[in-house]
Amino acid sequence: MTDFEDAMSILGRLIAFPTVSRDSNLALVDWVESYLASHGVKATRVWNDDRTKANLYASVGPAVAGGVILSGHSDVVPVDGQDWTSDPWTLTERDGRLYGRGTCDMKGFVALMLAAVPMAIAAGVKRPLQLAISYDEELGCDGCIPMVAEMAQTLPRAAAVIVGEPSRMKVVTGHKAGIGYRVDVKGYEVHSSLVDRGVSAVMEAGRIIQWVNERNAENRARVPGPLAAPFDPPWTTLHVGRIHGGTADNITAGDCNLTIDMRPVPGEPSTDWQRAFEAEIARLEAGMQAVHAGTAIRLDRYFDMPMLVPEREGAAERLARAVTGDNATHVVSYGTEAGHFQAAGYSAVVCGPGDIAQAHQPDEYLEVSEFRAGLDFMKRLVAQLAA
Ligand SMILES: [Zn+2]
Repeated sequence: MTDFEDAMSILGRLIAFPTVSRDSNLALVDWVESYLASHGVKATRVWNDDRTKANLYASVGPAVAGGVILSGHSDVVPVDGQDWTSDPWTLTERDGRLYGRGTCDMKGFVALMLAAVPMAIAAGVKRPLQLAISYDEELGCDGCIPMVAEMAQTLPRAAAVIVGEPSRMKVVTGHKAGIGYRVDVKGYEVHSSLVDRGVSAVMEAGRIIQWVNERNAENRARVPGPLAAPFDPPWTTLHVGRIHGGTADNITAGDCNLTIDMRPVPGEPSTDWQRAFEAEIARLEAGMQAVHAGTAIRLDRYFDMPMLVPEREGAAERLARAVTGDNATHVVSYGTEAGHFQAAGYSAVVCGPGDIAQAHQPDEYLEVSEFRAGLDFMKRLVAQLAA
């Protein structure tokens, strides 16, 4: 078989595992592990707490520093309620496109990572090719966290990380952070005619939303800094996605729950935004408690995805530009695992085949030409590691 046929057959195998994030990915992990073993490569699992899912990492070539980590996630989004022309779990080629759930996001890249293993062995790479395959990326990118920490600790330090999320093989050097909060406002119920003695959780939630609106207006009005300028929009956005509260027209609401998401731009650390928001919540809570001591605002920061900050003279950027020939500036608005690698001290970029517009869609596809471009990328990368 040619390299291309090999990569296609790996992709077919990967697509056939319905690794929706809510389900186990272990069947896929088993298969990848035995594929690597068939090439004499030992892989290491990093389990989730109840051992229903695992990350998998491996290293090909000599145990020395200066290699490259290729990173991809094994999970995919559900197909429930979507209208598919062909079976989403069967790789189907039509009209120059490879259809199947995850072809674009991002089993296409994972298949290319695996296809690169025998190439790296045959080329006798002098610096290692390290592979990182995660779970739960689609649930907020946090499945990879223990694997990234373990790789940083146990493997010779790689010079660069390439996260193969779909970017049409462009070199993406930055993305925004993501922070998610669940907010539970606990008020004090009285008859609405005695509103001065009660605390309406709904009306206090209104103050929180007002704070969010004011920050958006301020951020929008500010001239973006150099790190923020390439983004669309080039400022930190805040958003209230859901709200639920109150029991009756004439009772000050005892409870109100809302969710908030923030997307800080590089140059504005997530921790600054968290501190600002949490300080405002403390201020509002103090005001509520001055009326009635039993009131409270509880915060659950359930989501905290680090941003990818464009690096100065970054090794990953230099490598990816040399391999792809792409010298333009690209940032994206979706989060990736690259932020976690960067937070662990690695130089990281995003670069992978396919278009994010096809991700998560019914009839998700990856163009054959993109898959071939990804394979060429792997060949040139392996050549660099062998030089
Ligand atoms: Zn993805």
